[in-house]
Amino acid sequence: MTQQTGIADLIGNTPLLYLREASELTGCQIYGKAEFMNPGGSIKDRTALGIVRAAQASGELRPGGVIVEGTAGNTGIGLTLVANALGYQSVIVMPQTASPEKINQLEMLGADLILVPNAPYSSSQHYIHTACKVAEGRAHSEPNGAIWAQQFDNPANRQVHRDTTGQEIWRQTSGDVDGFICAVGTGGTLAGVADALRAHKPSVKIGLVDPAGSALFSHFNGGPLQGEGQSIAEGIGVSFVPGNLEGLALDFSCQIDDDTALPFAFNLLKREGISVGGSSGINIAGAVALARELGPGHTIVTILCDAGSRYHSKLFNPEFLMRHKLPFPEWMAS
Ligand code: PMP
Repeated sequence: MTQQTGIADLIGNTPLLYLREASELTGCQIYGKAEFMNPGGSIKDRTALGIVRAAQASGELRPGGVIVEGTAGNTGIGLTLVANALGYQSVIVMPQTASPEKINQLEMLGADLILVPNAPYSSSQHYIHTACKVAEGRAHSEPNGAIWAQQFDNPANRQVHRDTTGQEIWRQTSGDVDGFICAVGTGGTLAGVADALRAHKPSVKIGLVDPAGSALFSHFNGGPLQGEGQSIAEGIGVSFVPGNLEGLALDFSCQIDDDTALPFAFNLLKREGISVGGSSGINIAGAVALARELGPGHTIVTILCDAGSRYHSKLFNPEFLMRHKLPFPEWMAS
């Protein structure tokens, strides 16, 4: 009988790509997990599927039910794709400053989209608080009920990265991995991969790379929970500690500004043919920093979270970059 593969079966099992410039700069072997290869185009497809499967198993998500989530966009795309494939509906709350490419994709997928102002977390208008309120309302008004995916605190998020992303990295490196580093949006990726790799090899070094404006670097180094500056990278950087990070010990942390990170994304596209978004640039710069800390000869893995095509109007737009006083290569201007 022919195998019956659905779109949700294509989530995960992404390739591990050798990152030449980062490796040559440091004398280490640096790899990026190509999460832009997921069917919804980002690492968040895994989170979406993990959360939906857990809610199905607990009975909380009923057939035909509604999944509500607040997101910078990628989780919304993943959830809507999974919802469409498995017979649910999605309501996606996101900041109106998210890239138009993500908004267009969500409209195309048919999400019930609610755009909110880009308010601070302390404001009741913030997309997370709005999603919580919308989910409460829909739970009563929808005939098949509604759930709030709650990716920042839902244990299914960290768990899916422990079970899939982390195990894949272990297998793909044949256990020859010395360090893993990535930025945090919800922290599901960092904490889940850390759990998986440490269970195999307790000496593996786990690092956080934090973008400008995020509070975690200061927090993990004994300072106040606050950040300075800002980053154009979407989906990463937080002003609170997500529940996913509970109990996570770090071996290394660094803060990387956009001026340092973006050239890694630009060069990766032009010199290695790999198109990634801003958070991947931050991750690669973080992997280089961890490689310099560990010294030559080590193997380090990071995440290529999504593709540059999702940010054509921002990250790959010289006018946008100029307005934000950010560097761009000559080839982009011509
Ligand atoms: N990069 C991008 C582009 C994202 O959308 C996200 C998810 N918010 C992340 C990185 C961070 O992943 P996580 O939520 O697992 O910390």
